[in-house]
Amino acid sequence: MKKHIMGKNLDEWKNRHPLLEEIIKTQEVFWTNPQYVSSSDRIITPNLRKMDIQDAEKRLLRFAPYIAKVFPQTWETKGIIESPLVKIDKMKKELAVLYDQEIIGSLYLKCDSHLPISGSVKARGGIYEVLKIAEDIAIEKKIIVESDDYTILASEKCKKLFSRYSIVVGSTGNLGLSIGIMGAVLGFKVIVHMSSDAKQWKKDLLRKKGVTVVEYDSDYGKAVEAGRIQAQREENSYFIDDENSQNLFLGYAVAGKRLKQQLEQLQILVDQDHPLFVYLPCGVGGAPGGITFGLKTAFHEHVHCFFAEPTHSPAMLLGLMTGLHDKVSAQEFGIDNRTDADGLAVGRPSGFVGKTLEKDISGIFTIQDQELYRLLSRLADSEGIYLEPSALAGFAGPLRLFSESRGKQYLEYGDLMSKMKNATHIVWATGGSMVPEEMMSHFYNKGKAKE
Ligand SMILES: *Cc1c(COP(=O)(O)O)cnc(C)c1O
Repeated sequence: MKKHIMGKNLDEWKNRHPLLEEIIKTQEVFWTNPQYVSSSDRIITPNLRKMDIQDAEKRLLRFAPYIAKVFPQTWETKGIIESPLVKIDKMKKELAVLYDQEIIGSLYLKCDSHLPISGSVKARGGIYEVLKIAEDIAIEKKIIVESDDYTILASEKCKKLFSRYSIVVGSTGNLGLSIGIMGAVLGFKVIVHMSSDAKQWKKDLLRKKGVTVVEYDSDYGKAVEAGRIQAQREENSYFIDDENSQNLFLGYAVAGKRLKQQLEQLQILVDQDHPLFVYLPCGVGGAPGGITFGLKTAFHEHVHCFFAEPTHSPAMLLGLMTGLHDKVSAQEFGIDNRTDADGLAVGRPSGFVGKTLEKDISGIFTIQDQELYRLLSRLADSEGIYLEPSALAGFAGPLRLFSESRGKQYLEYGDLMSKMKNATHIVWATGGSMVPEEMMSHFYNKGKAKE
């Protein structure tokens, strides 16, 4: 641990933020954001607006015929990459017994774990950014105009064009998968810099698709840095910057309006008297941040977004709580950033996301790895849905909202207590459908052993 963190010693930091004591001990915590603003007309960011999300939606629509053509699994949805929203009553009962805590309101699972093409939430942001790069090049080279049928991009001629460009990214696994699979299909040279915690099967799968995988002994931060440097050195090279990319962010944000349509189809109200609570696993912050931006744009003050992090990687929590954002890392507070939740194994948060949403994130809670496994096996037994460990982090949210004093305070101050019987809780399941069966049964057995 460093003696001084941004000019203050640890005791000074603890005096200022007493919760740090528990965070540093890697105990589970539930933090609510004192800066949170609940307002119908709040403008989240002057740089990004509703218009920018609409622009991203339109881009995805332009690409939809192409996606349907090259990924037949998206044929049914006409090339739109979207996931089901599933009511999980059995899991809700299971949780009440397991944790002796009732969740008031109805409980849903947003199954981004089953998004086509790459089986994780990264199929939103990662794929979107690759498509944006491809479109920019194709338009510049006068291969297409926006009103064209984009299936032409599947031609050998276009692939040859894209093969002159490389896309570089640093990843703990899932972002590399999304960008690698999409980039390789378009014809790009893709180089993925993988941190040590990335799973072997993800590296193998990417290599099989013709992606170059560079492995590191160190964590995510180092892999990203190496990628950034390589991309700067090479010509015709695009670096996808997980920590700062507005395009990734907008790709995720499209989820807001899509979810709104799904809720409408299910005749689920979200308004003054029917609050919506969403629980999002957080790594560097791009995915939960972009989705929060989309949700806030769609539902304003009626949606409450909470982030979930492993107790050993509370990056966004430290960044938001101290106000230091990307100037601070878990490691500087003596926290080791070692977790089985590989999608969340991030020590330093995105400064862009933290600063953009510092008044919009309702709170952040942390969860131990062993709980992730326990939840994994319970969800599998009760609902038959299999997720990767990271993707279960959100489940602690609705439980702690009612059991923790800070959670209850949030509901009281927000005048929400009496409305909770009408509330909808959505746990965002961020990955899992592509995990090899053998590995999944290993996860499952780990969870069973914890019973
Ligand atoms: C990447 C990832 C997240 C979090 O996304 P960030 O953009 O890193 O915050 C959550 N769950 C899974 C499974 C992921 O792969």
